[in-house]
Amino acid sequence: MEVLKFGGTSVANATAISRVLDIVDAARARGKVVLVCSAISGCTDELIALGALAPADREKAGKALLDRHNCIVNRLFTGKERKDVSQVVLDTYKDLMEAAPEDYQTFGELFSTRIIAAKLRCDGVNALWLDSRDLIRIDGEVVDEEGSFRRIRKAVADHPEVEVFVVPGFIASDSTGHVRTLGRGGSDYTASLFAAALRADDLQIWTDVPGIMTTNPKDVRSARTIPQISYDAAFMLAACGAKVLYAPSVEPARKAGLAMRILDTFHPELPGTVVGAFPRREKGCWVGIACKKYEEDSRLCLVADGPLDESVPGELRSRLERANIVLRGIEFGSPDHIVISLSHGDEIEALRTCHYICFETDDSVDVFLAGEGKVGQALLDIIRKTDNRINVRLIARHECEDEAFFREMFASASGKAVFVDCTDSETIYKWYVPVLEAGINVVSSNRRALSVPYAEFALMKRTARRMRRFLRYETTVGAALPILDSINMSANSADEILSIEAVVSCTLNYILTSGLPFADALRKAQEIGLTEKDPSMDLGGKDAVRKLLILAREAGIPLEEADVQIEPVDGSAVQPGQRFVASIEKDPAAPKGYLAAIRLRTVGPDDPAWNVRGTDNMISIRSAFHPSPLIIQGAGEGAKMAASSVLNDILR
Ligand code: ADP
Ligand code: ASP
Ligand code: MG
Repeated sequence: MEVLKFGGTSVANATAISRVLDIVDAARARGKVVLVCSAISGCTDELIALGALAPADREKAGKALLDRHNCIVNRLFTGKERKDVSQVVLDTYKDLMEAAPEDYQTFGELFSTRIIAAKLRCDGVNALWLDSRDLIRIDGEVVDEEGSFRRIRKAVADHPEVEVFVVPGFIASDSTGHVRTLGRGGSDYTASLFAAALRADDLQIWTDVPGIMTTNPKDVRSARTIPQISYDAAFMLAACGAKVLYAPSVEPARKAGLAMRILDTFHPELPGTVVGAFPRREKGCWVGIACKKYEEDSRLCLVADGPLDESVPGELRSRLERANIVLRGIEFGSPDHIVISLSHGDEIEALRTCHYICFETDDSVDVFLAGEGKVGQALLDIIRKTDNRINVRLIARHECEDEAFFREMFASASGKAVFVDCTDSETIYKWYVPVLEAGINVVSSNRRALSVPYAEFALMKRTARRMRRFLRYETTVGAALPILDSINMSANSADEILSIEAVVSCTLNYILTSGLPFADALRKAQEIGLTEKDPSMDLGGKDAVRKLLILAREAGIPLEEADVQIEPVDGSAVQPGQRFVASIEKDPAAPKGYLAAIRLRTVGPDDPAWNVRGTDNMISIRSAFHPSPLIIQGAGEGAKMAASSVLNDILR
């Protein structure tokens, strides 16, 4: 049994409701579902406003609400079903108009859930609408959990055939049977009570943000999702103004030992936040900041995951005052949280400054490494020796596309996190997009991952841009040489690339410049581990093509492997003075505006390729602004060098 709760924006209109039903479908494939929904967004506020109007004005304002619901019905249903559901909506509206004005606010969830239950049934799902007013009882000011749980269990047990129970959130009744609410935002509480009563396998709170974040993202754009948070810290943030979760909903989940997951209806693939029994740290680190307005002041609540040092309020005060923020007070609310009091109007600037101090000045980086081959090992070596800003959090030993590795990364990444791909895998790139979407940066030395079909490459780039994360892969061409960055600078400065010529195959260059007969040189290259496992990959230009695709794409040319004319190396025909050159050249007649080729070329002493020896690489870039080429030449091979380039991508 899973309990899924969707908030007001998640059910705001027909499109949003269809999205909800897709998520419910996926849950239904795993087992029974309790679907708790809020009123459509803004509805509860409008109902409260309606109740406050003079009786003569209520009809007109009420009609507007009726129209909003009818609009959804018209989009979701056709024919007889549309008529039937419109009637249900109309009956609910008539009940509303006959209710006491102070009870109007309890009708929003009746409208939304009746429509959604009807839609599920119309789609052939065995769905049953349960009236939470009959199930959740409030005694005085508190929910009678024992009795409520008993009734919830019975209601569900009475209908073993039902796949989805649809439940209006927010509403309950008192001991006389009169309708009551659980408080604003109370649908979260309804979900938590149902989940605890039914000992659900999962409790999911679906909303319009990617989880509980370090603060309200509407106030601070750089807020980021908290992957895991303890019940205590989540409660504290919620109670102090983080509207994303209704504070009373934490306790039933905690008592039942149930984790709560906060998920984004609009990005269901994101990992969200898990609220659970995470241990308190010995020394507290900042978790999040909530902000709430009171009558007399505005208060920020800075929450940590363990006790804070005595000196923290003093330090915070002086940093805020240096930023010209006037505090009315600052004190410990508990050993794990600090409360700052401010005059109305000062809270947003103070919040931004506090967020910056707590979450944006930490320059440590969490690294998740896949691939512990030569480059991966060299990287770990350098990190161990040189830098304590980098915490290696997780290592996948081999070429790893293990889902568990990525899930663990999603769950534990916080702050600045970088996924480093030092594998040789052809398929691991499929994880790059979800990794970026989880807010994690990507650094790769795996050129197979970047030479995938252009559409896939472009999607990775777009995702990185959209998520404001970096995707860096300087190491994939010319190891530590700053080649891609140089091309990028031209491409970004509206300079037009005219040609790129590159000697980028260390293996072939070693063979061609060794002075030995071709076959002997090849054998030697194999012995010292310079060739690919299958040396025909090198001779056939396969590895050089990958590099050329990456170079071209960096220059903004959407090159595919099929666009490159390749002349494989025929060992018996090699002449002295030849170099294996990958090139692109502007040619308006070519389909993508450039001719791309990889072939042996005889070069003279004037050619920059002439001097390239052994495993060195050379690249020469001519552009409209730089007709005399920019030439970058140097060592193109070596695990240590590649690792230093990866490290540079991680830190710069
Ligand atoms: P729902 O209707 O899904 O219950 P709410 O409007 O109650 O959604 O809560 C979600 C909103 O909470 C977000 O849109 C966001 O503006 C606000 N919010 C406040 N603090 C936080 C926080 N720390 N993390 C995420 N969202 C927050
Ligand atoms: N609809 C109610 C409110 O707006 C309950 C909820 O959305 O959780 O407060
Ligand atoms: Mg809410």
